[in-house]
Amino acid sequence: MHLKIQQLSEDLRNKISAGEVVDRPASVIKELLENCIDAGASKIDIIVESAGQQTIQITDNGHGIPVEELPKACERYSTSKIATVDDLFKIHTLGFRGEALASIASVAEVEIESAINDKEGGKIKHVDGVSSKVSPAPGIIGTQITVRNLFYNTPARRKFLKSQRVEMRHIIQMVRRFALAFPKIGFSLKSDDKSIMNYQSEQLKERISATFDPTYSQNLLPVKFEKGDYKITGFVGTLNLVRSRPGEQYLFLNNRYIQDRLLNSAVYGAYQSLVNRGEYPFFVLNLEVPTDQVDINVHPMKIQVRFKDEWRIHHVLKSSVSEALSSLLDTIPDFGKPSYENNFSNSRNNPQYNPNQDTINFRAQHQSSEQSLNSAGLERAKNYI
Ligand code: ADP
Ligand code: MG
Repeated sequence: MHLKIQQLSEDLRNKISAGEVVDRPASVIKELLENCIDAGASKIDIIVESAGQQTIQITDNGHGIPVEELPKACERYSTSKIATVDDLFKIHTLGFRGEALASIASVAEVEIESAINDKEGGKIKHVDGVSSKVSPAPGIIGTQITVRNLFYNTPARRKFLKSQRVEMRHIIQMVRRFALAFPKIGFSLKSDDKSIMNYQSEQLKERISATFDPTYSQNLLPVKFEKGDYKITGFVGTLNLVRSRPGEQYLFLNNRYIQDRLLNSAVYGAYQSLVNRGEYPFFVLNLEVPTDQVDINVHPMKIQVRFKDEWRIHHVLKSSVSEALSSLLDTIPDFGKPSYENNFSNSRNNPQYNPNQDTINFRAQHQSSEQSLNSAGLERAKNYI
């Protein structure tokens, strides 16, 4: 039986796109943080209650929303970030689809307070698809968005949420991505009045220490590489930061967190035999690529992207990491390669051959290398000899 073709209501359309971009509290936080950063904020404070299900409140000191534009902010396809099709291929902002706030407002109560200067500010509330009038809210600079009762009107979606502990883990992971992509921005995260993170503006190395553990800073190798119009910066970890589970691999494309198996494999490949299958080295890397070399608009959450030439970026990334790891890689003796030591003084045909010599050479080289491994890393590296 044919059912009549009809246009979906605005509310239903918003709920459908909410299904793509807002699947849990962490994704609400992602969208709101993108907006704060696009607004040029240098300080962002996040408060959550009940792992974000009850309340998510984010306050930034960015450029704010003019009072007369407040009613438009939660309308679908309303954005201040792009205007033409051409703009789609030169995106310099994290957001551009103009659907995040509309989606969030279709599955939660949303209150926006914003001001572009300290004299005029406004406040608007969206509940059950109905927007309030804008009321004055002077005295703040920047924007504060409060999202309450997430999924109150979409119980099916709420049922997919995991325990508060798991949702909180997703939130922390999400905030970490932004904190590592933007170390110059101060971030704080409070959960049910407990402070979880409090980062001042800092350098990436300090931010990595603050995010993970102070010992990380002694186990980082800087990556700084330029090839044509590609630029790669950040840090890769020494063998002390290799883990048996993934989770500490951060790849950013023009400061946007992305997931890309091919590019991850470029980094792993650069470690060569220093890491085995099932071992995951630490990295925080930002790839700066001209905006016309990449299509961001292929995934609603913009976590997957498409490169014009993915093998080129793979190659450049691998070279950049190999260069950073050269001090570690030098410590792996290469028996296949003819070298003075292998051919003569330490050759197996040499009557004075010392079978331990390779290890000793390894140690000597290792000790002279700029970035030294601790004994655990050394033991590990010895296994490869
Ligand atoms: P998009 O980010 O794709 O433009 P959103 O729905 O996330 O769409 O936001 C709509 C618009 O609201 C943005 O384009 C921006 O102009 C404004 N906006 C939202 N959040 C903020 C903020 N924290 N500071 C300043 N402007 C904001
Ligand atoms: Mg946005």
